[in-house]
Amino acid sequence: MVHLPFPWSVVLAIVVGLALAELSFFVTTVYLHRALAHRAIVLSPRTKAACRLLIWIGTGTRPRQWVAVHRKHHAFTDREGDPHSPFVFGYAAVQFGNVVLYRRVARDPVVVARYARDLPPDKWDRWLFDRALLGLAIGIMVLVVVLGWMPALIASAVYTATYLLGGGAINAIGHWWGKRPFENLATNNQWLAWLVAGEGLHNNHHAATTSARLSFAKGEFDPGWWVVRALVKLRLATLRHTELVVKAARREAAQVREAAQVREVTAGQGSSR
Ligand SMILES: [Zn+2]
Ligand SMILES: [Zn+2]
Repeated sequence: MVHLPFPWSVVLAIVVGLALAELSFFVTTVYLHRALAHRAIVLSPRTKAACRLLIWIGTGTRPRQWVAVHRKHHAFTDREGDPHSPFVFGYAAVQFGNVVLYRRVARDPVVVARYARDLPPDKWDRWLFDRALLGLAIGIMVLVVVLGWMPALIASAVYTATYLLGGGAINAIGHWWGKRPFENLATNNQWLAWLVAGEGLHNNHHAATTSARLSFAKGEFDPGWWVVRALVKLRLATLRHTELVVKAARREAAQVREAAQVREVTAGQGSSR
């Protein structure tokens, strides 16, 4: 167990909480999002198993539910049926209540059967990974053993708040504020991309959903892609597509500025609900 005098024990707990949230952002984007939901990359069996374990003890998320909710988001982007669009539910509901909106749809077996039929539960899910609370309890116990009770609780609180607000930010800010170089309502925010493993380049992602890389232009950086590239070099992952398949048209510079103002025009529609 790590023993530090106060206040350094609290500082360490906060740093550990933030670092673990960062790790979860990377596992979420590489494993749940780019590999499982969009099949942009194929992870080696061992890498997949490691990610599955990390997601279980770090978030308690069931991958097939996450994938189903996310694919439904792409099927109904920013209109009725989107599980977490700020244009449908309002900005604050998505930024701060993302997990509530997520669970509402994730628990619908019809949605999961329809959108994640390629990820049926296996025996590992039935015995282990479907037990979300057990996974989270193991995660917290590991922290308690390493840090001690009090710092472990502080680290868990910092971790949970950061991970949930980060996920909310991708879905809320990522469809509300920022640049729209391609013709869709999602937005690019490089500052957010730095914080959430590249997911802040959300307009790019909606324009090219099968791309393992989310940075397309000069000045755009996708830390999640750096991890994917390292995994490919280490032969722990392969890319499904080497060519970029863009589904939406790229706007001219003037149109990008105009599109950035779409929020003011459409915000009324969202808040009228
Ligand atoms: Zn989106
Ligand atoms: Zn996606």
